[in-house]
Amino acid sequence: MIPREVVVVGEHMGRELTDVTLEMLACARELARSVGWRVTCVILTDDPKPFEGLPLNADRVVVVKDPGLGTPNPAAYARVLPHILKDLSARLAILGNTSLGMDLAGPLRAALGAPVISGCVGARAEGDRIFVTSRLCGGKLQAQVEPGDGLAIVLMMPGVGHRELGMRDEVPPLEVRPAPVSVEPLPVRFKELIEPPVEDVDVTKIPVLIAAGRGVQSKDNLVGLEDLAKELGGAVCATRPVVDQGWLPRSRQVGRSGMTVKPRLYLALGISGAPEHTEGMKESGLIIAVNTDPEAPIFDVAHYGATVDVLELVPVLMEKIKGAKGGS
Ligand SMILES: Cc1cc2nc3c(=O)[nH]c(=O)nc-3n(C[C@H](O)[C@H](O)[C@H](O)COP(=O)(O)OP(=O)(O)OC[C@H]3O[C@@H](n4cnc5c(N)ncnc54)[C@H](O)[C@@H]3O)c2cc1C
Repeated sequence: MIPREVVVVGEHMGRELTDVTLEMLACARELARSVGWRVTCVILTDDPKPFEGLPLNADRVVVVKDPGLGTPNPAAYARVLPHILKDLSARLAILGNTSLGMDLAGPLRAALGAPVISGCVGARAEGDRIFVTSRLCGGKLQAQVEPGDGLAIVLMMPGVGHRELGMRDEVPPLEVRPAPVSVEPLPVRFKELIEPPVEDVDVTKIPVLIAAGRGVQSKDNLVGLEDLAKELGGAVCATRPVVDQGWLPRSRQVGRSGMTVKPRLYLALGISGAPEHTEGMKESGLIIAVNTDPEAPIFDVAHYGATVDVLELVPVLMEKIKGAKGGS
């Protein structure tokens, strides 16, 4: 019989599950629900305590415990996971398309002979058949991939799933297992987590983003955008050229080599809409694009668009918003 188990390999940092873990659970649940499969969340750790009582959207949580699994070390995970995935008879193993997931994909493929599908942005099932949508050529193309009957390893892009659906009201049963093989000795050892300096806003968590492109033309013109963002309770983010010119810190860059964001509102000002940029923002709730060029590709991903000069628009917009709020 074909296995009917979707296994999500949880990632954690500082004893907290990461957003991509919740996004993967949401995707796994949606896939499993339509065909009556089971979702198992696997967490590798040295201490199960922080993961007890979490209302994760899974049918069960399997915690694999070993002193060598205290930090997310791909070499340790690569020893343990093949045994766990085999024991669980996983049909689909979902990992993050993250540095950890990418480090694990090769060893898992070698140990299990399973295909790896990277850049996943969605998955669906029809009967016992699974279809995975995968991004190619930096998001310019998408492919529908159907893995065979055995185990398939899927790397899911961070930011494409619905994080909030990774939780539910119930707490699933949690089972603690010892590592099935010895984790030591390891070829690499985790030494220290170096946190980025907390000097700036986290654009991935802001519901309203005013995004500046090269069309904004100068650093001085960002002041108007900052005021607009403040008025709307949001923050300013940017394309890579804006960041490269030093107008904003790297932490504000959206796109392939920056952040993936999904705000309620993304106001794209003077942005052409290169795939490297849209890759990081096209899942936003409402996208409004402003560009003087009616052929700009940003209009292909925008819900609304205006072909006007941003420098003329921003002061007018500001006035209108203040007026609507009853201000001066
Ligand atoms: C490996 C790689 C990774 C990359 N990663 C990223 C990334 O993470 N994020 C990212 O953003 N880019 C990234 N890029 C760069 C990307 O390819 C584009 O060059 C970049 O997104 C373009 O930025 P832009 O839209 O601000 O500038 P432009 O492409 O120059 O567009 C400016 C737009 O402003 C419009 N405009 C000009 N004046 C006005 C005005 N007064 N009013 C209204 N509109 C106006 C123009 O019509 C034009 O469409 C990457 C590239 C590579 C090769």
